[in-house]
Amino acid sequence: MSAEFKLVYQEKVYSALPGQPLESCDFFRLPPELHESAVGCGEDCMEFPRLQAEVLEANLEIVRRGLVLYTFGNASGIDREAGRVAIKPSGVDYERMTPADIVVCDLDGKIVAGNLKPSSDLETHLELYRAFPEIGGVVHTHSEFATAWAQSGREIPAFGTTHADYFHGPVPVTETLNAEEIQSAYVRNTGKAIVRRFVALDPAAVPGVLVAGHAPFTWGKTALDAARHAVILESIARMAFYTTTLRRDNAGVSQALLDKHYFRKHGADATYGQK
Ligand SMILES: [Zn+2]
Repeated sequence: MSAEFKLVYQEKVYSALPGQPLESCDFFRLPPELHESAVGCGEDCMEFPRLQAEVLEANLEIVRRGLVLYTFGNASGIDREAGRVAIKPSGVDYERMTPADIVVCDLDGKIVAGNLKPSSDLETHLELYRAFPEIGGVVHTHSEFATAWAQSGREIPAFGTTHADYFHGPVPVTETLNAEEIQSAYVRNTGKAIVRRFVALDPAAVPGVLVAGHAPFTWGKTALDAARHAVILESIARMAFYTTTLRRDNAGVSQALLDKHYFRKHGADATYGQK
């Protein structure tokens, strides 16, 4: 790589490659092979630039889509090879957050990069990463409609094809935690309750859950994929609410329609999109 130039992003100095746009977002969307050499910023140096940039982007995505009030909500991503999880810092304004603020820890929660405290929901995210080896990102929000279903302790039935395109079956709800589970290791026990709910479910086919009395968690192949599932879950939760309002005894889609739509987008025989 040839001569680098300095890039000032939110008062921090990063070096970047010539010919690249100076917009901060574009900078962090550099192709991975350029990114490694483009980020080299001395004392602000990020150990996991790509993972931190993607996790920041996932956190911003749930804000942009109206799923988050103030600092509620958090997104994380994992580098399975390195065994590192990157997660939003606790209580930092989204407008001021930079990739270097994203906290990096190992699968036991030991911090390995970043000076800030991680999200208070870290232990739930870690529990999911340990139990579901195929997932690469986790998102938690208190988005209104999904949270309303969670607070009602009701699973979201598959009422139509929008749901079936992404969730192969109802969005399940966990059991409520008992007093002992709440009083000790509450955040971790939230993760355990989700994992228990998935004993007979495939987390790849059902990429989200409602925690009873609390709110949704979603996951995906990457942090951005998990954020996309959080946006879709909120949309189908809103549609399902209207559907039950209009017709109480709605039986939902048939198994045939559920299968048709789900497998059009997922699995070996998927036909959707440009491939
Ligand atoms: Zn929460």
